[in-house]
Amino acid sequence: MKAALVGSGIGPSLTPGMHEAEGRAQGLAYRYERFDTALAPWKDMSLSAILDHAEAQGYAGLNITHPHKMQVARHLDALSDASQALGTVNTIVFRDGRRSGHTTDYSGFAAALQAFDPRVEGVDIVQFGAGGAGAATALALVDAGARLTLVDLDEARAEALADQLRAARPAAQIRSGSADLARAAGAVNATPLGMDAYPGMAFDPQRLGPGAWVADIVYFPLETALTRAARARGLRVMNGGAMALYQAVAAFELITGHTASASRMRASFDQLMAARGGA
Ligand code: NAD
Repeated sequence: MKAALVGSGIGPSLTPGMHEAEGRAQGLAYRYERFDTALAPWKDMSLSAILDHAEAQGYAGLNITHPHKMQVARHLDALSDASQALGTVNTIVFRDGRRSGHTTDYSGFAAALQAFDPRVEGVDIVQFGAGGAGAATALALVDAGARLTLVDLDEARAEALADQLRAARPAAQIRSGSADLARAAGAVNATPLGMDAYPGMAFDPQRLGPGAWVADIVYFPLETALTRAARARGLRVMNGGAMALYQAVAAFELITGHTASASRMRASFDQLMAARGGA
C-alpha cells in the first residue's frame, strides 16, 4: 500500500515517519512518500495532475498540506461533513474509483479534545486565531457543544469564520470580537504565537478563572510560553502534540482502512520529535 504527503516545503514533516512506523508495527507493506510541490517534478505539475498521477499509480490516499488545502475539494467526488462545512481537505482517500476528502485537522482536534475531556458542552470557550487550523478547531469545539467566542487580530477574519460556522451549524452559539476570559471555562490558542518565529502568547492565562483549561495547537515546540504559564497558574493544559497525534491517527485509519494504536503512534511521534530536537 502507498500514500503520500502533498505540500510545499514538507521535508521536515513527521507524518511519513509516523505512518510508516504504524504500518510496520501492524505488519503492513505500507510506504508513505513526500510529493514536495516546491521541488521537481511536482512543482511543474498542477494539483489536479498530481491527484490523477497518485490515483493512476494505485496510491491508497494522500495527505494535503499548505498551500493546497483550500483548492483540493473541487477535484474530489465526495466530502466529509466537516470538509464541506469548512471548504478544506487535508486527507484524500482513493477507493473503488472514487475520491473522498476529509479534514483530520477537525477530526484530530475533536479526538484530542475527547481524550483530554475538558468542560466544553454548554459553557463559554474562547478561541484565539481564526485561520486555517483555527477553522477546524472551532468547528470541533462547536460540535462538542461549546458557546464559542472567536478572537483574531484580523477582526474581519474572525467574523467571517463565525458566519461560516453559523451557516454550517445554525443552532450553535458563536460570536466574534472581544472575549471575557474570566467567564470562560476554557481557552484555545490557534494562532502561531509560541512558535520560535512568533514568540509570545495570544492571551495571558492569568486572566482565566482558576478552574479553566487551556489548549494550545502549536507543536513546534511542544511546550510554549502559554502552556508553561497556564501550568504555572495550576490550569489543566493540552499541548499541540495531542492534535498532531490524533490527526495522524485519523489519517492513517482513513487511508489504510486499519485501526491505529494511538499509544503506539504517540511513541513514534515522541521519538521523531526528540530526533528533530522539538520535544
Ligand atoms: P493561519 O496563519 O492560517 O492563521 C493564524 C491566525 O492567527 C491569523 O488569522 C492571525 O491573524 C491570527 N493571529 C495571530 N496573532 C494573533 C493574536 N495575537 N491574537 C489573535 N489572533 C492572532 O495559521 P494556521 O494554519 O491556522 O496555523 C496556526 C498554528 O496552528 C500554527 O502555529 C500551526 O503550526 C499550528 N497547527 C497545529 C496543528 C497540530 O496538529 N497541532 C495543525 C495545524 C496547524
